[in-house]
Amino acid sequence: MAKQHHSKGKKHWPVCQATGKLRLRESRDAKFALAAAKAQRARARIDGVEATWNVTRAYECDLCSGGWHLTSQRTDYGLE
Ligand SMILES: [Zn+2]
Repeated sequence: MAKQHHSKGKKHWPVCQATGKLRLRESRDAKFALAAAKAQRARARIDGVEATWNVTRAYECDLCSGGWHLTSQRTDYGLE
């Protein structure tokens, strides 16, 4: 599979085959993405539009061997 290099100024992540979610490689990426989501929600509130990226937590996926996914649901594991 060839690497994709198209980027529109936003980080581009692959997708987990099992869950269809963004697949982040490490917890650091997950934290980065959570911060980006939080910033997007703040901006949406200012602009008076509905935020579409409601993720609040990250967790490690068993199905794509150590990939990290974001979720808006609370779980017993994962990052704050
Ligand atoms: Zn996965």
